[in-house]
Amino acid sequence: MKTLFRNALLRSFAPGRPLTEHADILVAGDIIDTVAAAGSLPHDAQTQVIEAKNHLVMPGLINAHFHSPVNHLKGSLPSLPLEIFMLYESPNLPGLKPSPRFAYVRTLLAAAEMLKVGTTSVQDDAFFVPEPTPEIIDAVMQAYADCGLRARVALDQSNLPDIGKLPYLEDTLPEDLRNTLAAPPPAGTAELLACYAHLIGNWHGTCGGRLMAAASCSAPQRVSDEYLGALDDLSKTHDLPFYVHILETRTQRVLGQLRGRSLVQDFSARGALSDRCNIIHAIWMDDADYDFIARAGACVAHNPISNLRLGSGVMPFRRLRERGITIALGTDEAIADDSVNMWGVAKMAGLIHNITDPDYARWPTAAEVLDCLITGGAHAMRQRARIGAIAPGMQADLIMLDLDTLAFTPLNDLDRQLVYCENGFSVRLTMVAGAIVARDGKLLTIDEPALRAEARALAAELAGAGQTEQAAAAYLPYYRDMYLRAAAANLGMLRAVPHRDWTASC
Ligand SMILES: [Zn+2]
Repeated sequence: MKTLFRNALLRSFAPGRPLTEHADILVAGDIIDTVAAAGSLPHDAQTQVIEAKNHLVMPGLINAHFHSPVNHLKGSLPSLPLEIFMLYESPNLPGLKPSPRFAYVRTLLAAAEMLKVGTTSVQDDAFFVPEPTPEIIDAVMQAYADCGLRARVALDQSNLPDIGKLPYLEDTLPEDLRNTLAAPPPAGTAELLACYAHLIGNWHGTCGGRLMAAASCSAPQRVSDEYLGALDDLSKTHDLPFYVHILETRTQRVLGQLRGRSLVQDFSARGALSDRCNIIHAIWMDDADYDFIARAGACVAHNPISNLRLGSGVMPFRRLRERGITIALGTDEAIADDSVNMWGVAKMAGLIHNITDPDYARWPTAAEVLDCLITGGAHAMRQRARIGAIAPGMQADLIMLDLDTLAFTPLNDLDRQLVYCENGFSVRLTMVAGAIVARDGKLLTIDEPALRAEARALAAELAGAGQTEQAAAAYLPYYRDMYLRAAAANLGMLRAVPHRDWTASC
């Protein structure tokens, strides 16, 4: 099957090509075959021709950090700090255990939203409560297989009891609650590695390489040395990105301080920091931490909307860029972004850093934000040679935007209007691996009304929110105390923008 995009305005992101050019783009199978001057490419009767005059063709957007298992929970929680938020997010209650069908449907919910507005690739750091099973893993992967989105999927599981992951609680919790938090998680190292063997053995490299696995340890404080080493080995053996959340919150900075070294340096000392790592968030770090990341050649997944929703703080964008650290952009989970729309993430990334530095010369430019969104995302996925640019031999992951929309009228500066004006309304076509998966606002791979109806019905069958609140209530006073103690700790760094002197030590 061949598709010819004729007379497009092309923003190829390909090294060595002009920033924009008028071009024809021929797609053959799942590959970009030819890029040539507008109107110059002949075509035969079997070629599907798409007239792209007054349209922009560019690489599809890449969501570098996401967790699919809470796709059905967007808007369900008020804004809360991460540690409190996690009490409510996905408690281990029998009534909340998903069926494989529910896992399939909820995965499609966000995939549909991403594809419609032009996201063609996602890195899904999927966590499962109480534990992953081969059936649930198959359900998630089947959803990505069916909808056409390119996906890297990891299993984000802890193998340690909760009590050691947070500061102070060991000393403050009453005995019964402490004992509950000291219980090991249901799946240990062997069970989790068996799930990885299932994921890699059955799904890695399938659908023509569109579906791939990744490794994830969730966070350094959540896994044993043995499991961390095994995951690092898996990542090395199969050349998988290795996802790790490090220093998202002030409370995590305090945890590291109490242990005598920052969680970045802990992760590095345990031998797991490498150029395969996607460091997620990277907010509460000092210069030495960023130097560790830069030296290792690891990249950072920046989730500016989630970081605001949970009040985590602002990642110092320019300090990372100055060190040559590759930054990719992500929505994070749908319960902490609420819309999994990468245009919104790009706009937030283009705005939030402006209030962190009085020197406007250090603020992100639109071109830098697009570089993070496209090239940074491809790098994070370890797919620079396959996606993130429109050039012969690359995978045909592309989107076509109508330039005759309010976002681009009049067309003053393409990059700035992509970052600050576009919200997905101009996306007319989404192609992944040469297949058109959404066109003119309609998904071609998913029956969206049926999906919405089934998602509503399945969500209604889950245990009510009352149960979740009841389960969290006993812990809440101790978690709040922990959070406020951490907020008052002297860390010698500021990653928020307070309007008042909210603690003397900030
Ligand atoms: Zn995350």
